[in-house]
Amino acid sequence: ETLDKGLEKSKESFFGKLSKAVAGKSKVDDDVLDNLEEVLVASDVGVNTTLKIITRIEERVAQDKYVGTDELNTILREEIAGLLSETNKGNETEFTIPTLPKTSEGKKTPYVLMVVGVNGVGKTTTIGKLASQFKKQGLKVVLGAADTFRAAAIDQLQVWADRTGVPIIRQEMGSDPASVAFDTLTSAVKQDADVVIIDTAGRLHNKVNLMNELTKIKRVMQKVVDNSPHDVLLVLDGSTGQNAFEQAKQFTLATEVTSLAVTKLDGTAKGGVVIGISDQFKIPVKYIGVGEGIDDLQVFNKVEFVDSFFK
Ligand code: GDP
Repeated sequence: ETLDKGLEKSKESFFGKLSKAVAGKSKVDDDVLDNLEEVLVASDVGVNTTLKIITRIEERVAQDKYVGTDELNTILREEIAGLLSETNKGNETEFTIPTLPKTSEGKKTPYVLMVVGVNGVGKTTTIGKLASQFKKQGLKVVLGAADTFRAAAIDQLQVWADRTGVPIIRQEMGSDPASVAFDTLTSAVKQDADVVIIDTAGRLHNKVNLMNELTKIKRVMQKVVDNSPHDVLLVLDGSTGQNAFEQAKQFTLATEVTSLAVTKLDGTAKGGVVIGISDQFKIPVKYIGVGEGIDDLQVFNKVEFVDSFFK
C-alpha cells in the first residue's frame, strides 16, 4: 500500500493523460497511438523506449486488425512489464545481500556497496535508509564518507550514521577519497562487518576527474576486499526527467554501474523514468525512494510497480 501511496502522483498523472488520450475513441488508430506517444514521452519514459512501445503496439494492432481502446491498458501493461523484465529479473521485496565466501584469513568478507550520483539526488538519504534496513536485519554496517569534496557531505552522512547507530569512517574535507575507502574497508574487515556503504562525490562537470577518482577508489578497495565493490549503485532523482537520463549516461561512461536507485517517486508525475532508464541502460533498478523518512525506501519490485501504475 505504501508503494501505491508513494506512486499516487505518477499514477494519477499517467492515467489522467492516458484516459484523455483515448477519450471518445473506441478503436486504437493512428490518432490514439500519436496521443499515447505524447503521454509516454510526457511521463518521462524517454523517446527511445516510447518508440519501442509504440512500435510493439502498432504490430499488435496490425496483427489483430481491430484493437479497442478498452484493451489498451492491458496491452500497454504487458509491454511495459515485458520491457522491465528484460533488465529486472527479481520480484524481491526484502533488502538482502548475498553471502560472500570468507577471506583467506578466515574473516568475513563484507559486501561492499559503492554509491555514486550527483549532489541533491538523494544519495546520502538513500545510504542512510539502506543502513537502517540492513541494520534492522541484524547486519553489521559500516559507512565510508568518501565524498570528501564537500564538508556538508561528510556532515550529512554523519547525521545518518548517528540516526541509524552505524559507525562511520571519515577524514577531513579534501582528503583522498580512495584513502577513506581504504580505511573504511580495513575497519570493516577488522570489525567483522557484513555491509560497507561508501559515499562518493558526484562531480559531473569534471568527467575525467570523476572517472579517475572512481577508478582509483575501486583499485584501492580491491587491495582490501577481493572483487569489491560488489555493487555500484547509481542514485537518480526520478523527478528530474531528462536530467536523470543524462546522468545515467555520464556515470555509465565513467564507471561500471551495476544497479540503480530512483528517488523522489513520491512527489512526482515522472515515474516513467524507471521504465525508460532500466530499458535504455540495461541496468536493474534495485531501490526506489518514496519519501524523506528513514523507511521510505523500497526494494524495486517490477510486478508491484506495474500493478500500481495500472490499477
Ligand atoms: P545528496 O546531495 O544526493 O546526498 O541528497 P540528499 O540525500 O541530501 O537529499 C536531498 C534532498 O532530497 C533532501 O531534502 C532529502 O530529504 C530529499 N530526498 C531524498 N530522497 C527522497 C525521496 O525518495 N523522496 C523525497 N520526497 N525526498 C527525498
